[in-house]
Amino acid sequence: MNNDESTVSNFIHDIIDADLASGKRTEVVTRFPPEPNGYLHIGHAKAICLDFGTAAKYGGRCHLRFDDTNPEAEDEEYVSAIKEDVKWLGFDWGEHLYWASDYFDTMYEYAVRLINKGKAYVCDLPQEEFKNYRGIPTEPGTEPPGRNRSIEENMALFEKMKNGEFADGACVLRAKIDMASPNLHMRDPALYRIKRATHHNTGDTWCIYPMYDFAHCIEDSIEGVTHSMCTLEFEVHRPLYDWILQTLEVFQPQQIEFSRLNLTYTVMSKRKLLELVKEKLVNGWNAPRMPTICGMRRRGFTAEAIRKLCGLVGCTKFESITEVELLESCVRDDLNENSLRAMAVVDPLKVVIENYPADLVEEFEVPNHPQKEEAGKRTIPFSRELWIEHDDYMDEAPNKFKGFTIGREVRLRGAYLATCTEVIKDATGNPIELRCTYDPDTKGGSAPDGRKVKSTIHWVSAKHAVDAEVRLYERLFTVENPLGDKEKDFKEFLNPESLEVITAKLEPALTKAQPGDRFQFERVGYFCADLDTTAEAPVFNRTFTLRSARM
Ligand code: ATP
Ligand code: MG
Repeated sequence: MNNDESTVSNFIHDIIDADLASGKRTEVVTRFPPEPNGYLHIGHAKAICLDFGTAAKYGGRCHLRFDDTNPEAEDEEYVSAIKEDVKWLGFDWGEHLYWASDYFDTMYEYAVRLINKGKAYVCDLPQEEFKNYRGIPTEPGTEPPGRNRSIEENMALFEKMKNGEFADGACVLRAKIDMASPNLHMRDPALYRIKRATHHNTGDTWCIYPMYDFAHCIEDSIEGVTHSMCTLEFEVHRPLYDWILQTLEVFQPQQIEFSRLNLTYTVMSKRKLLELVKEKLVNGWNAPRMPTICGMRRRGFTAEAIRKLCGLVGCTKFESITEVELLESCVRDDLNENSLRAMAVVDPLKVVIENYPADLVEEFEVPNHPQKEEAGKRTIPFSRELWIEHDDYMDEAPNKFKGFTIGREVRLRGAYLATCTEVIKDATGNPIELRCTYDPDTKGGSAPDGRKVKSTIHWVSAKHAVDAEVRLYERLFTVENPLGDKEKDFKEFLNPESLEVITAKLEPALTKAQPGDRFQFERVGYFCADLDTTAEAPVFNRTFTLRSARM
């Protein structure tokens, strides 16, 4: 596999190189730790490429670990979707599939160990009230009541927490670190909370659940992760990550932060994406307008293009916003190179070839890809009546116009040269039919006398055409940064024109398309057979238009 992340170098790989050279590490173990509370988005793709790509580069391994420490938001639906997306992106965790919840016993033991060392205590302040004690970074906080309880007392209270003797939220277990630390995360952070909720894996075994900061470092440590990559917002949590593992005296992975992927015209928070789904503003997590991996897949993006983007944006510690055009161009380049060509008319205008016999049907062989012979050929039927694009006709056309205008000869791709003799219009002056004549000596599309015809247009035989539902997508948001205006709800910036459904005329071979098959509809754009497509009722999604306008 062309694994882009593993071929490029970045500051994390420099750290790893040094660790291997000094003997601090002898192997490289990474993990991708999604919380199963939503679908993966393009931002996660960056983390996936980095985690799996780095492991591959060093011949190590990358774990897929579900960070399922929050019983409320998690769902099996998300678990299988995440697995499918990681695989589709081209990565393989092999036997290394893990669940944070499988470590709940160990986490509990570790919490007890901290209490025994006098490094954790039960605090019965509600979180809101604790904030007053924690204070602000520039001034030391104050000791919360209970901080100096004896080890025995804390052991007994923690046991009671576990046994369900307290109400939800009545108390928490806190690390006893430093109420004066300039880093608020080090001011006695909560390690365990009481929450009566049925967990998808452990059921009702537990009514206390570990907090993210306590759980995550322990998960990494148990699995022998050597380099634990995460996004920049965790930088201020790193001292806590290290403190917990050092205090427990267990294996210590190194947390390394990198900047997240941000894209213009895109929202990447799972919580916000969930809002769009719940309010039915898009048709599910895998709606082709969504920045989710499954949405992009359904839209026709390739895994190669997404990996390419992740390689191009690289991995740094600088916050930045990548222009969505870069992603679009990765997708277009890949599709241009790899998608098969087909003929389809998205805005049909009837053409009647007056001197072509009414009952004759000819079959023309055309290549599936202009540069790739190995892509083979297919036959397309030709007959007296055709569909062409509406905008392939103009009354008074400039010279560079690549379509019909009265009196000018045009090539019908792969078939014949034809000339428009008459245009029929409706009452508003809109063309509804062209009358043409063809030159029977130009079979295949070239003239024996060598005369030049600059324009080549696509067409579909009317009597063989298959109607298809075609969904035309545009960007989901109208502004570069939908979250930029704090006064406004990001949903106000949804693009009302981001989906238009039309009926197109397809060449008959397209009825064989399977969901996920990608095509370039010649001169129109890139299209992908939708999950809903069938031979009887084809459905296609437009991935993108072609780069250049059709002139
Ligand atoms: P979101 O903030 O979008 O809701 P999350 O960070 O809560 O996502 P997790 O399931 O916790 O989602 O993420 C799994 C991994 O993906 C984490 O290591 C996280 O740092 C990383 N990740 C999430 N968003 C991005 C992003 N935009 N760019 C790079 N990595 C990301
Ligand atoms: Mg998160």
